Amino acid sequence: MLHKVVLASNNAGKLREFSAILGAAGIEMVSQGQLGVSEAEEPFATFVENALAKARHASRATGLPAMADDSGLCVNALNGAPGVYSARYAALAGGEKSDAANNRQLIAQLDGQADRSGFYVAVLVYLRFADDPTPVIAQGRWEGEIIDHPRGDSGFGYDPHFFIPSLGKTVAELAPAQKNAISHRAQALQRLLTALQPDVGGAT
Ligand code: IMP
Repeated sequence: MLHKVVLASNNAGKLREFSAILGAAGIEMVSQGQLGVSEAEEPFATFVENALAKARHASRATGLPAMADDSGLCVNALNGAPGVYSARYAALAGGEKSDAANNRQLIAQLDGQADRSGFYVAVLVYLRFADDPTPVIAQGRWEGEIIDHPRGDSGFGYDPHFFIPSLGKTVAELAPAQKNAISHRAQALQRLLTALQPDVGGAT
């Protein structure tokens, strides 16, 4: 049986990535934009609360099960910043909303800091219906270190400054397929797939 699920995002790349993995479990993803659903607010201080709010909004508007993700970079020396504000880190300090400005802001905030450790995190939430009391939640985490000088031009966001010691490369130096196999989002998706097995009837 095919389960139709609305993705609470209009990002075509995410739709492709999620469809590729969840399609194997008999889940057909459709983006909320295709169904005329507006973007939800993301006012909360935690990834899970924002993902839950987005999924609930999409499910309520469509009457379908919904999935949402929220992700970002957390740096230990900055108490988890930029965190849920990763996409607008520089804008919050009066700068522009761009990857380049965010990266400049990050490097400036870490000036003189010895501890460069941090992690990318992705949280996925699946709701069977808007008021589902038992949302399915999965989280992925990818550890790395922030480097001052950018390397590589693949990926997006903080990737040129996010160095993975075990690979000896920044994420922007990885091939897209390699990133997509091991990233925080990939880990969260795999965990979600496992957690969804009771709902999709063991189709996996
Ligand atoms: P969103 O969850 O797609 O809105 O992502 C939030 C922000 O987190 C992005 O705009 C990036 O700044 C950052 N981010 C999330 N995942 C990644 C990644 O894989 N690489 C680089 N930056 C990321």
